[in-house]
Amino acid sequence: MEYIINDREPKALFHYFEDICAIPHGSGNESAIADYIENFGIKHGLYVYRDANNNVLLRRPASKGYEDHVPVLVQGHIDMVCEAESWRNIDFAHEGLELRVNGDMLTANGTTLGADDGVAVAIMLALLGDEDLCAPTIECLFTTEEETGLTGATVFDYSKLTAHRMINLDTGGEVVIVSCAGGMRTLISNREATEPYHGNALSVTVDGLAGGHSGADIHLGRANANLTALALVKAAKAVTNTRIISMKGGSKDNAIPTRCTVVIGVCDENAAVNAINDAFAELRTKIIKEDMGANVSIEHISHDGSAVNAGFTERLIDFSKRVPCGVISMCDGIDMVETSQNYAVIEVDADGTFRLCLSARSSVDDKLDEMSTMLSTLAREYGFNAETGSRYNGWAYDKNSHIRDAYVEVYRELTGREIPVTGIHAGLECGIIKRAVPDMDIIATGARTLGEHTTKEALDLNSLALVYKAVKELCARL
Ligand SMILES: [Zn+2]
Repeated sequence: MEYIINDREPKALFHYFEDICAIPHGSGNESAIADYIENFGIKHGLYVYRDANNNVLLRRPASKGYEDHVPVLVQGHIDMVCEAESWRNIDFAHEGLELRVNGDMLTANGTTLGADDGVAVAIMLALLGDEDLCAPTIECLFTTEEETGLTGATVFDYSKLTAHRMINLDTGGEVVIVSCAGGMRTLISNREATEPYHGNALSVTVDGLAGGHSGADIHLGRANANLTALALVKAAKAVTNTRIISMKGGSKDNAIPTRCTVVIGVCDENAAVNAINDAFAELRTKIIKEDMGANVSIEHISHDGSAVNAGFTERLIDFSKRVPCGVISMCDGIDMVETSQNYAVIEVDADGTFRLCLSARSSVDDKLDEMSTMLSTLAREYGFNAETGSRYNGWAYDKNSHIRDAYVEVYRELTGREIPVTGIHAGLECGIIKRAVPDMDIIATGARTLGEHTTKEALDLNSLALVYKAVKELCARL
């Protein structure tokens, strides 16, 4: 194969990255890249284990003098998100990427690059093949279908591992991640009684909020369109007889909703419109700068047909007020969100169907259990059903971490800079591995990338070389 990166060291690191990019490896299509990794292991005389999900584990024995050191696991996912510009005709199932070097940055022509998480694969292969490496037993776990639900990591048989220290390489930046969130979805639902409604109605739409990721952005205090719409209904209800006929807001459980439309039956239309506009003006004085694009539009309509029962409105408003939303608690010992919940998607139909999706996250699994119990008790009180699902585990911050302290020191010595130590309020494979091997001492780090999951994805080649050096030095000290 002809390589385009030939002037950087260690050469093998960059060539492995280019090799990977030449092999199609979108999520669910990992068998070819798993073959490549398996063959690498066989060629280098390593222990090789591959499971039915194409997860591959390679093990390199300890260097001389390291035989009694604790084995180290290095881990990352081998699947990538496949996105292409409309002009770029690519068959991701069968074609590799076209790489472009621009100064210190590497991109792919019109597509995602898969530095998320090709960085991990290249670093792991380079470590395993590095003749100068002095280190304990190194186990490298290459997992699959991370991007579509952490599937590979979930099904892997962790009894195959001997390591009790771990470096995950899936962060997209030179940081030390020391905690990640678990999560769960709760569906609140009911088939509400209906009754006929003939009369004036207002279609009220809240739109233009900033939204964002329900984990990574939850601490920013951005307004929630669904809760904003309910606050406006409440304001109308305070001045005139008001009832929800239907409601629709939010689109995904992992996004803060930016738009919500609620159709309300009202007795006195003018009074309701004034109350809504006043309440919205009042809300605007409290919202943050990013939400300044918010607006409310009111359309006068009439409704002639069935509607959800009149008592539902009061129950929904009251129930919603008692559902913990936004940031619920912060971590002890590090400045980051521990537990949060997103009032994600709501749907009320005139035929009585009510569905509300709540998405909770926490780095502490017990907090998710408590939330699940609390929500089902609360739902029962209001005559709703609650069903919890899509649960995955978090990784709680540990004040004492030998591997974290060692990496901070290595990074400082190599660069003269302090590496930021932080957690992420979203899911990582580390949460699943921590659950399977509870005494695993973990950090997550990675090379600097831009525009992950987009066609602008770029990898900083200097950063890749630096992180390789740092990880190699870390292994030597463990
Ligand atoms: Zn990733």
